[in-house]
Amino acid sequence: MRRKVEIVGAGPAGIAAAIWARRLNWEPTIYERRLVLGGQLAHVSLPITDLPGLPGIYAHELCQRLAVQLDSLHVPILYGREAIGYDRGYLIFADGRRVASAEVVLAPGLRPRQLAVPGAELIEEVSVSDLLAAREVGPAAVIGGGDRAVEAASRLAEEGIGTLVIHRGRRLDARPALEERLTASGAQLWTESRVTAVEPCAAGWQITVEWRGRRAVHIVHQILVRIGMIPDLSTRWQASLDSASDHVNLIGDAARTPAYRSLVTAFADGMTAVKTMVSKPNPENNPAVDADGMVGPGSSSTFR
Ligand SMILES: Cc1cc2nc3c(=O)[nH]c(=O)nc-3n(C[C@H](O)[C@H](O)[C@H](O)COP(=O)(O)OP(=O)(O)OC[C@H]3O[C@@H](n4cnc5c(N)ncnc54)[C@H](O)[C@@H]3O)c2cc1C
Repeated sequence: MRRKVEIVGAGPAGIAAAIWARRLNWEPTIYERRLVLGGQLAHVSLPITDLPGLPGIYAHELCQRLAVQLDSLHVPILYGREAIGYDRGYLIFADGRRVASAEVVLAPGLRPRQLAVPGAELIEEVSVSDLLAAREVGPAAVIGGGDRAVEAASRLAEEGIGTLVIHRGRRLDARPALEERLTASGAQLWTESRVTAVEPCAAGWQITVEWRGRRAVHIVHQILVRIGMIPDLSTRWQASLDSASDHVNLIGDAARTPAYRSLVTAFADGMTAVKTMVSKPNPENNPAVDADGMVGPGSSSTFR
């Protein structure tokens, strides 16, 4: 009987883990809390230039290819299923369900860092796509200066929405191509500017900004906070990782420092996690991974 692995997250890392699990003759199931696969790829609108072999591919096309690949390998993906922790041999879900599991690959990716100023707790996280789809879109402020901030601001400004980028640093942290796009988009940029408070008002939001010792107040319809991403791990997941590290393997962006977060590292992490798992002594005497990273006699050819 094939051994099972539960994979949390249908982003690039979780998908790669599923592909490798199938290749090594295991039975993967992916649990994804959203209703689509691809994770952060859903926010990537520029062509991806650094994926070896697929230069210039668009994220939506990559997602389609990954979906087709998973489908051809008959990997089940259960959408709308949020896994909240692992406890004594069970993967636990937000709706109270539990699944017996000896091996979990945890690939939850990242979540936005919150702005730590008075009033920020009232800002609702909104995607640019949702904003553009809304009927009433007024002037917007994007807080941050990295790739996500600059990409979001460019998309809004390109649609004719008055957009202000507020960034603490002297220079943007975004990639040059994105900086050029921002400039071309017509968005306004305030550097060396620090948001000190936000407050709801009739027009939307009042933002207090400090710039070289001076204070300014700016009114916008919408605020987008894009000040970095942190691993999407709840306290409960942290505890599960501490107590069940033999059974739960954290991979992908959530396991890496910012400089090493990427598609290729996410894909590689999926492979490494599965090979590590397959190499463990098998309580049911299943074949172990061989020197080429393939499982037992004959099985490797199945997926070649
Ligand atoms: C705007 C932008 C542009 C980028 N451009 C590039 C680029 O050009 N080149 C490049 O290499 N990389 C790029 N990246 C980075 C790349 O997208 C990420 O490195 C990659 O997606 C990380 O994959 P992951 O699977 O670790 O996490 P994610 O892609 O974040 O996927 C995690 C998935 O897990 C799900 N999940 C989280 N918690 C749970 C839970 N408890 N239960 C169930 N499901 C859960 C999430 O919903 C999500 O679908 C870009 C990212 C962004 C945002």
